Amino acid sequence: MAETQKPAQTGIKVIVVGTGFAGLTAAIECQRKGHSVLVLEKFPELKLLGDIISFGPNSSRLFCRWPGVAEKLEPLSMRADAITLKSWLGETLLTQYWDGEDKEFGVRFDGHRGEFHQVLYDHAKEIGVEIRLGARVEDYFEDDAQAGVVLAGGERIAADVVVAAEGVRSKGRKIVLGFEDKPKASGYAVYRSWFSADEIAQDPDTKFFTEGGDQHVAWLGPDVHFIAACMKKGKDFSWVCTHRDEADIEESWQLEAPLEDARKVLEGWDPIVQKILDKTPSPLIDWKLVYRDPLPTWISKGRRIALIGDAAHPFLPTSIQGASQAMEDGVTIAVCLRECGGGEKVKEAVAAFEAIRYERVKSAQKTGEQTRDIWHKADFSAAKKNPESMRLRREAWLLGFDAEKYAEENYGRTVEVLRRTGLEDTSEARKLHVPEGQHGYLEFGDEKGKGEKKEGAAGVSAEAHAVAT
Ligand SMILES: Cc1cc2nc3c(=O)[nH]c(=O)nc-3n(C[C@H](O)[C@H](O)[C@H](O)COP(=O)(O)OP(=O)(O)OC[C@H]3O[C@@H](n4cnc5c(N)ncnc54)[C@H](O)[C@@H]3O)c2cc1C
Repeated sequence: MAETQKPAQTGIKVIVVGTGFAGLTAAIECQRKGHSVLVLEKFPELKLLGDIISFGPNSSRLFCRWPGVAEKLEPLSMRADAITLKSWLGETLLTQYWDGEDKEFGVRFDGHRGEFHQVLYDHAKEIGVEIRLGARVEDYFEDDAQAGVVLAGGERIAADVVVAAEGVRSKGRKIVLGFEDKPKASGYAVYRSWFSADEIAQDPDTKFFTEGGDQHVAWLGPDVHFIAACMKKGKDFSWVCTHRDEADIEESWQLEAPLEDARKVLEGWDPIVQKILDKTPSPLIDWKLVYRDPLPTWISKGRRIALIGDAAHPFLPTSIQGASQAMEDGVTIAVCLRECGGGEKVKEAVAAFEAIRYERVKSAQKTGEQTRDIWHKADFSAAKKNPESMRLRREAWLLGFDAEKYAEENYGRTVEVLRRTGLEDTSEARKLHVPEGQHGYLEFGDEKGKGEKKEGAAGVSAEAHAVAT
């Protein structure tokens, strides 16, 4: 579609709750596909919150379809040509190069969450998406003819469909599940930091991070990993450290911890890690990961309300897919609504959205569990003998996927099944969309065979997913 042309209007009214990457993608794609969209966000103003976030080629292809967006993200992005994996003592296990990946799957963007968010938010406004800030959704409702939300203060707004993209503490889950969903502490937390790379560039031991393009290094230790990267051609520096944490505190992107806490966790680690800590401003962001059982469904009984992104399916950071899958959800629901033709058929569109996404997302979630277990439970003497075992999987079924095209091509056959089975049960239709090979790593087999299911490490429930990207 030429972006200068206004798309044919579908007459479908959509409310999107939340301006995270799920909500903004849904809103931008609804606007591009001719739906009438209103976005509600509880924050009264935009702030540059967060730090490093990653978008795989599977979601970056959407940025590339939105005029001007990829061009604005490019100078904000990390452009390392490899990631180096080291043991916590500093022995290099493996340098994994990305060459060829751009050609195979397409470009990807990693950078500051707040900076990327601003680019997307501005783009949504530029193309005419109506966004109301300071609009906190307190409740949801639906009947046979419409769905809607109740704002703090009591205002009721109705539409044909509501897309609940309000992240891990979603209020939309209650109407979808019929009960309040209770998250549990996971036993893990992530210290996070983002700062100017000036001091890193001045120290002879750390300046390699800023030379010859951006550098990206992960140190792996017993039940802990520490990943550091330079961004924007040596200008900014960021690190994250996932570690054990028993504190039973709610997940928040604004909770802080003194740098000393991270020093204790990383005591005895590679001197380069210590040097990075010396240059890190205190306090850190202390992001507690909480568990949430996988939801049996993401859509309301009346088939007019859909949970997308973290509201439906939180991801582990080690999947590097949370934001990407959130964006895939956003474009998929917009396509389904366009394909359905409007009226009562929006219910079919919502059911088809769940059917198309459910099994794919489940498989993508598993990759995060598997990488975490490989990294955190590693036997380092075995890893030194077989460094390839530590490699980050880069799989075509995941990274080569085009969610928009897939939904366009598969909507019809999904709805055929739904018409046969009835909209109240999407389980038959979900089976159409199980990614080939099944269960997490679909293409990376070990010597015993490709695509074999690997169970999670002992003590970590495979049924539970930590809340993360
Ligand atoms: C402030 C913040 C900082 C983050 N920083 C990082 C980071 O540095 N790195 C990283 O990998 N991931 C980060 N994340 C998480 C990451 O953005 C998501 O995991 C992923 O992109 C999926 O996005 P989402 O849109 O589903 O959810 P989210 O990104 O969580 O977005 C949800 C949105 O809904 C809004 N919202 C919530 N409740 C309501 C309500 N009742 N009414 C109206 N609006 C509501 C929230 O304010 C938020 O804007 C951050 C999330 C947030 C909210």
